Amino acid sequence: MVEQLIDTDKLKKIAEEVISREDVRLLIGYRKGTFGFRMRPAFVEEVSEVGELEFTPACVNNLATYLTNYERPPLPRGTTNDTRKVAVMVKGCDSRALLQQMVELAYKRDDVIILGIPCNGVIDPAKVDKRFPEAKGPGDVKREGDNFTFSADGKTETVPAAEVIADKCTRCRYPTPLVYDELLAPEVERFADDTYEDIAGLEKRGSDEKWAYWEEKFSRCVRCYGCRNVCPMCYCDECVLDRLSPQWMRRSVDISENTAYHISRAYHLAGRCIQCGECQRVCPMDIPIMEMNRKFYKDVAEFYEYEPGTDAEEKPLLSIFSVDDKEDFIL
Ligand code: SF4
Ligand code: SF4
Ligand code: SF4
Repeated sequence: MVEQLIDTDKLKKIAEEVISREDVRLLIGYRKGTFGFRMRPAFVEEVSEVGELEFTPACVNNLATYLTNYERPPLPRGTTNDTRKVAVMVKGCDSRALLQQMVELAYKRDDVIILGIPCNGVIDPAKVDKRFPEAKGPGDVKREGDNFTFSADGKTETVPAAEVIADKCTRCRYPTPLVYDELLAPEVERFADDTYEDIAGLEKRGSDEKWAYWEEKFSRCVRCYGCRNVCPMCYCDECVLDRLSPQWMRRSVDISENTAYHISRAYHLAGRCIQCGECQRVCPMDIPIMEMNRKFYKDVAEFYEYEPGTDAEEKPLLSIFSVDDKEDFIL
């Protein structure tokens, strides 16, 4: 029977020990949101703030994104960087972002304390919003067997997990974090596999059909850059999209520039995207960004036998070369 995994009292006790350490400046975890069934990131700097920490199936955010933000803060004149450690809570899928960031030398293993969350699935907020359009909350979500139980505004309702679970969880191969200092619950065995069924249709389309499909999707993009900003692997000092000299891409929102944006982003993430799905989750225009990411991911896995964010000893894909690499796809 699949149950709620994380004991909140244990989480708070461990968090208290961690944030009390002199060599730790911050713990990034989760706390209740202010609306609906949302949970939100918590930035704990004092022991007195530990009480707000929780982990529920509504903890969807990949907190690895904040690590690279915190490593490069704009510092006021006369101040120096606080180099003490940052602790972070990560689910299995999110832990892959940490591994990939470290493989890319974004920071060192010693700079972070990783509180691993063995995980059996999170909700998809968009599906939940459709199921409970009137919920004001803040509400609670629990996993009970094959169901999620939602409580808000004095009502409780049980929903089959399959109806509201995030798509990525139905093909999760790494439910237990691949890197951690402390595991907050017993390991969860792999319970699913990834057959790439969701992109089979896309792969079968001809070029014209693919172009028409993506033209319609990209034309809806408002270039809010939410997909880039939430991505744990988008952490360049200066993003190519923001550069004005040379200006590789204009900021105008039209099909040509939107297409350039999405194609460049997809290529910059090839061999780096760890499939957390955050980009698609935050998109206000419902653009299926993951279809493109997953096609790139599948190709990288098949052509180069490379799976980002799974091996701390591996070098980044684009910095290695083998004479056996496939090249029959090169025109
Ligand atoms: S993909 Fe796996 S680790 Fe990530 S939220 Fe879903 S079940 Fe948990
Ligand atoms: S591109 Fe999307 S799925 Fe890939 S790492 Fe970034 S946010 Fe996660
Ligand atoms: S989040 Fe959606 S609308 Fe915003 S830039 Fe990305 S694809 Fe476009």
